[in-house]
Amino acid sequence: MILEDLYQELILDHYKNPRNMGTIDHPDVHKHVKNPFCGDEIDLDIKIDRENQQIEEIRFKGEGCSISQASASMLTELLRGKSLHEAHDLIEIFKKMVKGEATPEEEEKLGDLQAFKGVSKFPVRVKCATLVWNTVNSGLKEIDQAEK
Ligand code: ZN
Repeated sequence: MILEDLYQELILDHYKNPRNMGTIDHPDVHKHVKNPFCGDEIDLDIKIDRENQQIEEIRFKGEGCSISQASASMLTELLRGKSLHEAHDLIEIFKKMVKGEATPEEEEKLGDLQAFKGVSKFPVRVKCATLVWNTVNSGLKEIDQAEK
């Protein structure tokens, strides 16, 4: 199986069987976002472990294209349990990767999410892939600012 087929299958699998779907009671971050270009919608909840400064729990609900939903599903798997610092780094790397600007060493840190590397060829799809990442990013920034 060539790598691109494998990536396609990963995306389809997460689209059909999204991981960490649902909501969290009393989340530290709750956001609802839309991508008007494609009609994608995502509701995102994050619970922060403040003592350890890490993402304790992260869940989403959504609808839309396979790229946007699979990206959200895979993001929750990658970011759960990560420190806020690591999460920030991974967000930056993902955003660079879909613009074709990440190094191979950086991309490796994304694991399965390298499946979205190919969207860099399709600017409209980049918006689908990054929707959830931008949402997490702005949610974490708000928390950061609230604590200062
Ligand atoms: Zn989309």
